[in-house]
Amino acid sequence: MKAACWMAKKTVQIQDVPDPKILNRQDAIVRITSTAICGSDLHLYNGFVPSMESGDILGHEFMGEVMEVGPAVQKLKVGDRVVVPFPISCGRCWSCQHDLWSLCENTNPNAWMAEQLWGHSPAGIFGYSHMLGGYAGGQAQYARVPFADVGPIKIPDGLTDEQVLFLSDIFPTGYMGADYCDIKPGDVIAVWGCGPVGQMAIASAYLLGAERVIAIDRFPYRLRIARERAGAETLNYEEVDVYDALMEMTGGRGPDACIDAVGMESHTPGLPYLYDRVKQAMSMETDRPLALREAIMACRNGGTVSVIGVYGGFIDKFPMGSLMNRSLTLRTGQCHAHRYMKPLLDRIQKGEIDPSFIITHRLPLADAPEGYDMFLNKEDECLKVVLKP
Ligand code: NAD
Ligand code: ZN
Ligand code: ZN
Repeated sequence: MKAACWMAKKTVQIQDVPDPKILNRQDAIVRITSTAICGSDLHLYNGFVPSMESGDILGHEFMGEVMEVGPAVQKLKVGDRVVVPFPISCGRCWSCQHDLWSLCENTNPNAWMAEQLWGHSPAGIFGYSHMLGGYAGGQAQYARVPFADVGPIKIPDGLTDEQVLFLSDIFPTGYMGADYCDIKPGDVIAVWGCGPVGQMAIASAYLLGAERVIAIDRFPYRLRIARERAGAETLNYEEVDVYDALMEMTGGRGPDACIDAVGMESHTPGLPYLYDRVKQAMSMETDRPLALREAIMACRNGGTVSVIGVYGGFIDKFPMGSLMNRSLTLRTGQCHAHRYMKPLLDRIQKGEIDPSFIITHRLPLADAPEGYDMFLNKEDECLKVVLKP
């Protein structure tokens, strides 16, 4: 089959690779009908995630048709149309039983690698480095899906791929970011980053009852989509001082909760950016936490900082004093996608939201290398690339 493979930093190629096979009784093989490039894939593309190997199949946002099931699979049958969540979860371990799906204890065969960096290992993730399991990803014609009775959800007829594809990752992720804010009537939520995840976080904050959502980025077209499609008020951090503007907009109190939908590659004009950029380049810190620092400093006393942007390792100048003295709550995680998929599918079916509003580019799988470049460099007002195998 054809698959988009990570060959080296900034190099993705379409390769001919062996078709996946059932390896375990609980596996299914899915023929992929739609898959997408995620901001998390850009961290791989830019070489910030260790333990990628040349030839690894990328992709963790995918859906398709079940082609084959292992003998122990009971809920899925050949021909079912499914969306597959990006964390791989067994459904039976302590974490899965406690609704902490991205922390499954049984799905990372390379847990020892993650334990060295993080102390404990989270779940395995499709197409996301050997440290997170070395699983082949879904930017391909077919994928092997372990624990097929646990993760994939069946999609009823009448919904298009584009309406439901993002249930695999970014819609639950944005929703979890907003869910973690414990939104009460009247709340003002600020969201750093108007990429696909930020857009989903904005829309979700409104679904959960936020009164106002203020979104921050520097790309005018992303800010425009945040305003016109997700309903946010927007700030361009290259034009205003974000802290000052947020204080002005919230009567000096700060937002009730702040969502970091940027992650480890944040950017900012001026000296702090250079400081982090240099330290990151010299491997003196792994992540650039500019948006995170700003989110903590801006949050109102006693508020919540919800971090859904991905961080990999260690950060510098973390404002722990601000967090502690002002009784802030920090909540974070790889999305427990399984927790949210069914309720969010219901919301899509009821017409409360159509997450496809973020799609700007539809490409054949063969154009994945161009898709990565375009998404990374924000060419042609790119916000989300869907690939058709
Ligand atoms: P993206 O790269 O398209 O979006 C990031 C946006 O942040 C860009 O528009 C960029 O201009 C903006 N940005 C950069 N610096 C900023 C700053 N200082 N202030 C405000 N905005 C800034 O990616 P995406 O697909 O939206 O993903 C965003 C993050 O979410 C990534 O880190 C990704 O890995 C992560 N993610 C996490 C999960 C999870 O389970 N927690 C799931 C999916 C994605
Ligand atoms: Zn993702
Ligand atoms: Zn488990």
